Amino acid sequence: MSQPDYLQLLDHLYDGLYFVDPQRKITFWNRTAEQITGFTADEVIGSHCYDNILNHVDADGNALCESGCPMAKAMDTNASIESEVYLRHKQGHRVPVAVRIRPLPGAEGQVLGGIELFQDLSEKTGVLLQLEELRQLALVDSLTGLANRNYFEREIEVHLQEQARYGWPFGLLFVDIDNFKQVNDNYGHEVGDRVLQMVARNLKHICRPFDVFGRWGGEEFIGLVRNIQGPEMKVIAERLRMLIENSQLQQGDGFVGVTVSVGATLARVGDTLSDLVKRADELMYRSKNKGKNCVTTDF
Ligand code: GH3
Ligand code: MG
Ligand code: MG
Repeated sequence: MSQPDYLQLLDHLYDGLYFVDPQRKITFWNRTAEQITGFTADEVIGSHCYDNILNHVDADGNALCESGCPMAKAMDTNASIESEVYLRHKQGHRVPVAVRIRPLPGAEGQVLGGIELFQDLSEKTGVLLQLEELRQLALVDSLTGLANRNYFEREIEVHLQEQARYGWPFGLLFVDIDNFKQVNDNYGHEVGDRVLQMVARNLKHICRPFDVFGRWGGEEFIGLVRNIQGPEMKVIAERLRMLIENSQLQQGDGFVGVTVSVGATLARVGDTLSDLVKRADELMYRSKNKGKNCVTTDF
């Protein structure tokens, strides 16, 4: 098979794929990599994997490109590595990916470079199916593609009834973007809208197939997290905060990012819709009063 045929085949792989040379300069970038990351081959070939294009972070928010780069480690140790990380999409949000990295050995055992395959985990969550169903019911927020407030209120009512009848636990997250008015003032309303979309994409990606995130209004979002206990709820709330803090929208030569204040509570037997939302909202305001960009819980 000639070289161009071979590369064309790689373009059609289900996984994103790229090659780096021994200096970690990107030499090949397949079409699936373009689709998962939003960056075209022209934009990345010739740059280095540590140039902070993809800006990998792990689940705890640690930046991996300067220290802890899995590609550098695979090449240094001449060993394969598999891990789950979050890469930065061109539109700013974080995408969860499973990466598999192999060093490329030369005939004399030297390392000629590295190859990384990465799979988009967000597709697996069933969120797309869930949203298609919602769209048909006209219960989707048109700007962000999340469930709208109308849908969300019904969803909470259903879960309160289920909890009263069967005792199934669930929690509510109230998320408000910090200083969002400044984003509009500094960059304009259209950039503000794109930031809202970026935050919404993060919420979609963090959500498990059976959780729902919605736009409550303006720059406020709400999440219903099913079958959850306090410790796990804290982890989800903190991860959500961290992923948004680590997301950036490219704007001219610079980047625009925001942080969020989060309130998290668990539904209690006897709660009404407004009791529950009010409690999550008040906890969110406590996060604002603590200096923003943090999570407050009551459990
Ligand atoms: P805080 O940290 O206290 O939450 O400050 P804030 O600036 O985020 O809050 P404030 O309530 O003062 O401002 C919210 C802003 O959100 C004001 C409004 O113009 C903006 N906003 C609401 N909905 C939209 C929208 O759909 N698109 C855009 N671009 N801006 C919106
Ligand atoms: Mg607000
Ligand atoms: Mg706000």
